Amino acid sequence: MSYVTRFAPSPTGPLHLGHAYSAILAHDRARERGGRFLLRIEDIDRQRSKPAWEQQIYEDLTWLGLTWDGPVMRQSDRLDRYRDALQELWSRGQLFACSCSRRDIETASSAPHEGEPPMGPDGVIYPGTCRGTCPEEMPDQVALRLDMTKAAPDLSESVGDIVLSRKDFLGSYHLCAVLDDADQSISEVVRGEDLQPATQIHLVLQRLLGLPTPSYWHHRLIRDDAGKRLAKRDDARSIATYRAEGATPDEVRSMVGL
Ligand code: GLU
Repeated sequence: MSYVTRFAPSPTGPLHLGHAYSAILAHDRARERGGRFLLRIEDIDRQRSKPAWEQQIYEDLTWLGLTWDGPVMRQSDRLDRYRDALQELWSRGQLFACSCSRRDIETASSAPHEGEPPMGPDGVIYPGTCRGTCPEEMPDQVALRLDMTKAAPDLSESVGDIVLSRKDFLGSYHLCAVLDDADQSISEVVRGEDLQPATQIHLVLQRLLGLPTPSYWHHRLIRDDAGKRLAKRDDARSIATYRAEGATPDEVRSMVGL
């Protein structure tokens, strides 16, 4: 099977050194193997995604010397695909509609534990409040959760009923990522070790939706001087800033240990 990997940034802020590391690793692996390196813009969250950030992704990657194969996939173009998959899971009774607010979830979840509510890969583990309320038609404008007690009972306590579609936009990171990886024929996903907990969810979704499972390589994270991992919401120095200050792409490679 030929090697295909991808870089899948969200256009919700500037790319930083951690993104550069991930993109360069995936790109170089594809090139070394004579495979393909694909680009996917994860812009499913329409409120946080901005065209200017998407444009900057193209500019940063190009400046780094990375080239991608074929057309760019954009999640905002694929809503029908996500809706069909949700419909399929809904008609099999694997989903339920959930109208709980974040606060409802925290309150219900901390009560039996007296103290901090238990946390899973997506935050507080859903206490199951709305589970079992399933009208025949799949509703709109409401969150849809996977009933983990049916989908993968062994994960129901440690992961819980994860959100597969949000009230304010169709789909969720987990659902869209597995469908996109399958439709882009990804053979190896290269991403940070912070996403390791998400991968167990992706394996469940692939099984439920009859999708192939790629191999996964979770790489180390790039940290700041204090050892904290870089994030868009912090003051992580962006690639654009290094570029504006006259750094070269090779210097960026060596900053991340490549
Ligand atoms: N859009 C996700 C991010 O920027 C991608 C995660 C993935 O590679 O699956 O973190």
